[in-house]
Amino acid sequence: MGFSGWRVVREGLSGNKGWTPHWRDASPKSDYDVVIIGGGGHGLSTAYYLAKNHGVTNVAILEKGYLGGGNVGRNTTIVRANYMLPGNSEFYSHSLKLWEGLEQELNYNVMMSQRGQIVLFHSDGERDAAIRRGNAMRNQGDDAEFLDREGVRKHLPYLDFGNARYPIYGGILQRRAGTARHDAVAWGFARGASERGVDLIQNCEVTGIDIEGGVVKGVQTSRGAIRAKKVVMITAGRSGQVAAMAGMRIPIESHVLQAFVSEGLKPCVDHVISFGAGHFYISQSDKGGLVFGSYLDLYASYAARGNLPAAEHVMEAAMAIMPMIGKARLLRSWGGIMDMSPDGSPIIDKTPTEGLYLNCGWNYGGFKAVPASGWATAHLVATGNPHETSARFRLDRFSTGYGLMDEEATGAQHNLH
Ligand SMILES: Cc1cc2nc3c(=O)[nH]c(=O)nc-3n(C[C@H](O)[C@H](O)[C@H](O)COP(=O)(O)OP(=O)(O)OC[C@H]3O[C@@H](n4cnc5c(N)ncnc54)[C@H](O)[C@@H]3O)c2cc1C
Repeated sequence: MGFSGWRVVREGLSGNKGWTPHWRDASPKSDYDVVIIGGGGHGLSTAYYLAKNHGVTNVAILEKGYLGGGNVGRNTTIVRANYMLPGNSEFYSHSLKLWEGLEQELNYNVMMSQRGQIVLFHSDGERDAAIRRGNAMRNQGDDAEFLDREGVRKHLPYLDFGNARYPIYGGILQRRAGTARHDAVAWGFARGASERGVDLIQNCEVTGIDIEGGVVKGVQTSRGAIRAKKVVMITAGRSGQVAAMAGMRIPIESHVLQAFVSEGLKPCVDHVISFGAGHFYISQSDKGGLVFGSYLDLYASYAARGNLPAAEHVMEAAMAIMPMIGKARLLRSWGGIMDMSPDGSPIIDKTPTEGLYLNCGWNYGGFKAVPASGWATAHLVATGNPHETSARFRLDRFSTGYGLMDEEATGAQHNLH
């Protein structure tokens, strides 16, 4: 079933009776060429590109809940390519290019909106760091514009420019950054993968990984054993637990990250804005809600709900920079479990077990990575070699210390990235 303007009109005139389910709800077969554990954004995009780019279609995605019920459906939907270090910058640059053609690629409205992101800075030192990052972004071929205080005011007149504690010195604008509707991204990749023959199996929890003589043989699940030539672990916040099923102890800590949404308001915030002196960033959804996020809860946890100190922190930061938000009523808040790596950068690699692969370490920024991560993971699984954009995302960098990508210069402490 294809989507088009013409189709919408035709269905609208004929009672919307012609729409069909977006994907097949498959039951598990006894064996596959590739089994992907985890039906989040990265698992779904990996399956899609395995089928699309490499013709590998005897693939199953095993999801313990429902597709898109994890972080891919819980994030604040921001898409950008403003990383600084080699390794990350070419990867996220590739991802943003894929985002720009994603709706045509998937024939699905993911509501990609390149409304621009402004990251504010509030001191001379922060200005230097912002300019350095902006130059790195431009060197990579992505866009970055320096805005002084008046430049920011032109775009965001409603910010508090008189705040003595956090004066706004300026910002870096990336016009190509923006938002996309998170669950539509999951649905679009699911539909595209299913159309190409991938089995999407929901309510199927992987409970064990079968390994014989150092070679992966398949998985144990809540719906029985499934054999597989290759198994890919893509379970974000649950990565540590799933890798433990293969006897691996990986350098990932799980922390909750919270987000908040206000009641629906008339359009008032037409950018993504990031406060540079505290943990607060915001955009407005197409439904009108102000969607804003914060920082990690600083203790490791598998609870997908947050606590009040983090909520208090984000509200204070919001009020410091955008006092008008105090008039909006908060509608709801939620949490997702982040897979925090020691250097704040991801892992896409083989494991010591033949045929077993690992994709994790997305920290709090893996939504924007969804297309490029699937692209690179599919390449690795299909060809046995890392894709050029993900060659630095090696698992052994944490044991050798060589090739770490400490993007935020926070050192090897998971909860500070
Ligand atoms: C509040 C919040 C705000 C965020 N904001 C942004 C943002 O603005 N921009 C951005 O780029 N990123 C953002 N992120 C991060 C981003 O959402 C994640 O990094 C990314 O979604 C993680 O990858 P995923 O989609 O594959 O994970 P998930 O959707 O969590 O997928 C993993 C899946 O694995 C399944 N699973 C786990 N264990 C098993 C098992 N044993 N068997 C079978 N299945 C299993 C889970 O049920 C889950 O569905 C945010 C995250 C949160 C929580």
